[in-house]
Amino acid sequence: MIPYASVLTQQAGVQLFIKHEAHNHPLVSGNKWWKLKYNLVEAERQGHHTLLTFGGAYSNHIHATAAAAHTLGLHSIGIIRGEETLPLNPTLTFASSMGMTLQYVSRTAYRQKDTSEMLDALHRQFGNFYYIPEGGTNDLALRGVEEYAQIIPGDIDVVACACGTGGTLAGLIRGLPPAMHVIGFPVLKGDFMTETVQHLVQDNARANWRIVEGYHFGGYGKAPQSLIAFMHEQAQRYQLELEQVYTAKAFFGLLDLVRQGAFAAGTRLLFIHTGGMQGRQSLNSF
Ligand SMILES: *Cc1c(COP(=O)(O)O)cnc(C)c1O
Repeated sequence: MIPYASVLTQQAGVQLFIKHEAHNHPLVSGNKWWKLKYNLVEAERQGHHTLLTFGGAYSNHIHATAAAAHTLGLHSIGIIRGEETLPLNPTLTFASSMGMTLQYVSRTAYRQKDTSEMLDALHRQFGNFYYIPEGGTNDLALRGVEEYAQIIPGDIDVVACACGTGGTLAGLIRGLPPAMHVIGFPVLKGDFMTETVQHLVQDNARANWRIVEGYHFGGYGKAPQSLIAFMHEQAQRYQLELEQVYTAKAFFGLLDLVRQGAFAAGTRLLFIHTGGMQGRQSLNSF
């Protein structure tokens, strides 16, 4: 946990800390590691030799699953949304170098990804595999995040992070003490995240959390110049390296709340940097 101080935080009288999880594992970065952990244990327990999952062409989860499988001597299959583009982008080049079999499906077919028809068809094609949903979010993923949450110091008042599928936020909500406030910043457009997270948390008594919308910068995978400029500023002035898909948007959102006076003086804020730095290699294709 490292302190982050700026004129802004000082004016607001808040203390801000960053928990940097980008380098918690040499290949499987950030929250994807916590989310995969118990899935890998379960895949092994069930005697599987192959992992199969879904993702977009720049997906951190595809990258992480390929690396984790390779490390454990498992085979991996990535069902990728959209058409194949050659040469492969850095994410898919890496996944492929980790031995991941890539199969592309149209965007229309991809929407069927959670149906039993789709999974049956994939079983007919590939035989046995351990299925991990898109983004890695399932009950076992939440368990890994809940476990991670135990290392967050008890004197933090507010924990914030980016949301994609909402699994990480839901795991934090479940794992953190009820008095700790949790804030999620969705990087996708749309107002479904509160409901999604509520559904994942499955605990209506746990009300000390909220989703703050308005910081998606045009939607998933969109990185306007203002966001890139913010990333550069954070790197140069504060030595804080962010990436454009998740962490820059969420951190921007958190600083904006500080600017708006959303937190009382003396509040101790923790931003969890959920990793994803591999995605920076694709910056110039945005
Ligand atoms: C996947 C990802 C997220 C979002 O996690 P969810 O559990 O899907 O909400 C946030 N940050 C980074 C860097 C990620 O790779």
